[in-house]
Amino acid sequence: TEPLTSPQAAPAGVRAAVRGVPAYPFTPLDVPTKLDQNENPYDFPEALKAEALRRMAARPWNRYPDLHADELRRRIATYEGWDERGVVVTPGSNVLIKLLTELAGISQTVLTVSPTFSVYTLEAQLLGATLVQVPLNADFSLPVDALKAELKRHQPGVLYITQPHAPTGHVDAGAAVRDLVDAAGDWVVVLDEAYHQYSRTDHKALVLAGGNRLSLRTFSKAWGLAGLRLGYALATPELAGQLQKLVPAFNVSTLAQAALEVALEQPGYVQERVQEGIRERDRVLAALAGHPTFQALPSQANFFLLRTPDAAATYTHLLGRGIVVRRQDSLPGLTGCLRVAIGTPAENDALLAALADLP
Ligand code: PMP
Repeated sequence: TEPLTSPQAAPAGVRAAVRGVPAYPFTPLDVPTKLDQNENPYDFPEALKAEALRRMAARPWNRYPDLHADELRRRIATYEGWDERGVVVTPGSNVLIKLLTELAGISQTVLTVSPTFSVYTLEAQLLGATLVQVPLNADFSLPVDALKAELKRHQPGVLYITQPHAPTGHVDAGAAVRDLVDAAGDWVVVLDEAYHQYSRTDHKALVLAGGNRLSLRTFSKAWGLAGLRLGYALATPELAGQLQKLVPAFNVSTLAQAALEVALEQPGYVQERVQEGIRERDRVLAALAGHPTFQALPSQANFFLLRTPDAAATYTHLLGRGIVVRRQDSLPGLTGCLRVAIGTPAENDALLAALADLP
């Protein structure tokens, strides 16, 4: 049957840019081992969840939350050592990507690399920005000179840089990132640091050093709170003030705010899990090193790319073992690649065992 999102099925009045963009390409699968969304394999600690539920119950649900989640912004600012006027929170950092594209991309340029995180390009297309993508270098490093040439060629818009990069897990040398960012002039530079805990990198200093830069962060990965939907931007107060104008009023629920306050009061669990995530990632990569068939590509995130001779066959084999990963083999430069999130030690063992059984 005709998918409801096809351009032909669009009701009259829908903008051509929206009609022309496919729906977000994701099919949730109910299988025991979910390694397809780069989530934290562990739920929020039970004692903290109980405290969050207690606070949720104590707050009025009939009243609107804080207009701009001010209390939460204050607490994030304290946690990050940042000026609270420079913090903007939204339900997931995906929303910030939409708003930043609105802020600086509409009728202007969105510049990023290829392959890249799909939401940058999706929002650019939906909002009618001119999308410019530069291929990553063969080793997945940033094509700094080519990006600098594009920065010069186009009127300023928004530049998305992801560190660690998604979907490769590659981290660039700090000097290369600085070189690129310093060349960006009036462009709004977004440093997406969704996975930064797993690489122990932090570009806050770079954001502080220039007026047009932001760091995007999320509670969905290291914090294990993807279901609550909370992301934030760290910027100068001036840039954050402009971005805040685009944030819909009351957009973080009372319930999510209560839970996040608990997480920020007792963040110790995050470090423990990140340490295990890094250990497990390095163990899995070491176990696959020198494999005759597969190439596990180095990563500094909580996921890695697995290059296979036949991505479809490997995907189906893993699914037959109750393990779901993400196909990336249609992306430029990622022939044969699957993206695999790091799970619990038992899940990673199951992955390795399933891969060992492949003919
Ligand atoms: N940036 C990158 C690079 C990501 O991989 C993701 C999650 N897939 C996000 C941002 C968005 O995360 P969230 O909306 O859950 O905060």
